[in-house]
Amino acid sequence: MASRPIDFSISIIIPVYNEQENIQSLYDQISSQIEQIKNSEIIFINDGSTDKTLEKIQTLHSSHHNVHYLDLSRNFGHQNALKAGLDFCSGDIVISMDGDLQHPPTMIPVMIEHWKNDYDVILTTRQEVEDSRLFKKLTSQNFYRLMGKISNIELKPGSADFRLLDRKVVDVLRRFEENDLFFRGYVAWSGFKQFEIPYTPEKRGSGTTKYTTRKMIRLALNGLLGFSTLPLRMVTLIGFVISLVSFSY
Ligand code: UDP
Ligand code: MG
Repeated sequence: MASRPIDFSISIIIPVYNEQENIQSLYDQISSQIEQIKNSEIIFINDGSTDKTLEKIQTLHSSHHNVHYLDLSRNFGHQNALKAGLDFCSGDIVISMDGDLQHPPTMIPVMIEHWKNDYDVILTTRQEVEDSRLFKKLTSQNFYRLMGKISNIELKPGSADFRLLDRKVVDVLRRFEENDLFFRGYVAWSGFKQFEIPYTPEKRGSGTTKYTTRKMIRLALNGLLGFSTLPLRMVTLIGFVISLVSFSY
């Protein structure tokens, strides 16, 4: 059944925004998982960090031939940083993950095994842990519930941007030029053969969340507006009712 090349290349793309304390240990952990793969690249996308994140990446880059980076001119947001990574990487398979050590690199070989079994997309779903932030948990659960009701794509609760994509999926996603692409939605929409694996998120390495409430709302709105016509239909209806009332008045 497996038709994958034995000598495949891998790209790991990691958007980072003020993650200076996590870079080195993330690199160490990823390296130990991919050392068997001859052709690998680890690409950090520095999303306008104001701390020493860029310097830490540059230090790694100067001593490891497989470490590369993109340095965005300002903070463009996680989804845009991911897009930059997808545009730049060259691997036969591409794994995106967070730079705060919450996405365990030990999952990398597991994902690759499923890719070898002919899956084109390996998604991960977050298994909630007791001490995860209640606010995040509630907003996330409700968001996926709402998406399930009103949109035309199916997203699993706890979906994150920790996934493996085959090159052909990356090439499809790269064709979208919009800003703030809601990647989770587009990956589901693209329809390639998917496999899901659960994972337990680690505690954030160092620092605090870089997803402010404002950024989270923006992400959710992009998902809802991009994959459902309900908001548009509601606005049209409200406009129609207001016109009708004004007209009768
Ligand atoms: N991130 C980014 N740009 C941003 C916000 C976050 O590149 O504007 C990165 C961040 O450094 C991390 C990943 O996106 O590597 C996910 O962010 P975070 O872990 O803070 O989110 P949470 O896990 O709290 O949802
Ligand atoms: Mg995190």
